[in-house]
Amino acid sequence: MLQGMDPNLDGKKILLLEAGNKNVMDKVPDTYSTRVSSISPGSATLLSGVGVWEHITKMRCKPYKRMQVWDACSDVLITFDKEDLEDGMAYIVENDIVVAALTKQLDGLSDNVRVKYRSKVVKYEWPKPHLAADSIPWVKVTLASGESVETKLLIGADGSNSMVRRKLGIPTVKWDYDQSAVVAVLHLSELSDTQSSLVWSTSHRLAEELLDMDEESFVDAVNSAFWSNANQSELVEKAGSLFRGALSAIMPSAGSPRQLPPSVAGIGPKSRVMFPLGVGAIQHLLEYETERQRHNLPMMAGIDLMKRLYSTDAAPVVLLRTFGLQATNMIPALKEQIVAFASK
Ligand SMILES: Cc1cc2nc3c(=O)[nH]c(=O)nc-3n(C[C@H](O)[C@H](O)[C@H](O)COP(=O)(O)OP(=O)(O)OC[C@H]3O[C@@H](n4cnc5c(N)ncnc54)[C@H](O)[C@@H]3O)c2cc1C
Repeated sequence: MLQGMDPNLDGKKILLLEAGNKNVMDKVPDTYSTRVSSISPGSATLLSGVGVWEHITKMRCKPYKRMQVWDACSDVLITFDKEDLEDGMAYIVENDIVVAALTKQLDGLSDNVRVKYRSKVVKYEWPKPHLAADSIPWVKVTLASGESVETKLLIGADGSNSMVRRKLGIPTVKWDYDQSAVVAVLHLSELSDTQSSLVWSTSHRLAEELLDMDEESFVDAVNSAFWSNANQSELVEKAGSLFRGALSAIMPSAGSPRQLPPSVAGIGPKSRVMFPLGVGAIQHLLEYETERQRHNLPMMAGIDLMKRLYSTDAAPVVLLRTFGLQATNMIPALKEQIVAFASK
């Protein structure tokens, strides 16, 4: 879509090949979908620039202004707050809505962008390296239907198992975190019409167990995960409380009380998602790559570190993260930096 609106590509024909069906949404469904995304302000700005965000806000999305993260093995937490801002810290949007909004906007670009749905690419044939500077070689793309197309510029935006990337032998680094995400819509026990979206990332084994549970046991499991202190140890609690006391003496106004969500009363359908947890000048593309890597690599390294740090309940590690979380929570400037970095 970005290419379809790029003035540099005026007059060029763009063909988008999509293996799936066209997702048209005439009316927003009454029930919420379980598959949601948290869209950062940076992504919202990008979608706004191509006219998609307006469709999303007209359909359905929910800004949020506060995020709390706490440790099952201690009582500490970190709060990211944006109460003072008009816009949210980020937005929860159903995936179906994002896709429907993109589809709607793509329909409006029909002059230079044509979308071919149900068109699975099964083969790429790459041209031989060419020496003549003025002749750009063509890539041949073959579809499951047997049809083929040729192009001078191929953009591989075919997801985490990208065939384009595989066939070109572009290496990736990945490892298995033994993580699945169970997704569900929760009905909270408030008097208002409160519904909440749940993405519970956990081990494959616990995810299987959660999916096999009847509704009542699942609701108990969710409430227990929010409220239970069964994993907490007295030593960590005492040390954490001493450290918190010392920090409060230095920064009396910092820190915030833990605000747990209201208890869960029921669920909508639940399902599981496996986490594989995880035409421009070449110079322009290299600059883009460098810029993204500068942002993505520290982010990925940070997430990886967090995952490792929180995968154990060994007392020394729990103590270390208890102190780290408390100290970070009490330094608003540091938290602002974290939010600003994650929002890009
Ligand atoms: C449960 C879950 C929660 C998530 N939550 C968030 C979140 O909160 N915030 C966030 O930013 N991200 C989230 N993500 C990640 C986000 O969904 C992905 O990063 C994003 O969808 C990747 O976009 P993409 O265009 O690279 O790939 P995809 O969205 O996978 O799109 C690839 C497209 O290529 C098509 N395709 C693939 N192969 C072929 C082929 N051979 N021929 C033709 N077409 C093909 C597919 O049909 C698909 O439409 C979440 C993911 C999951 C699973």
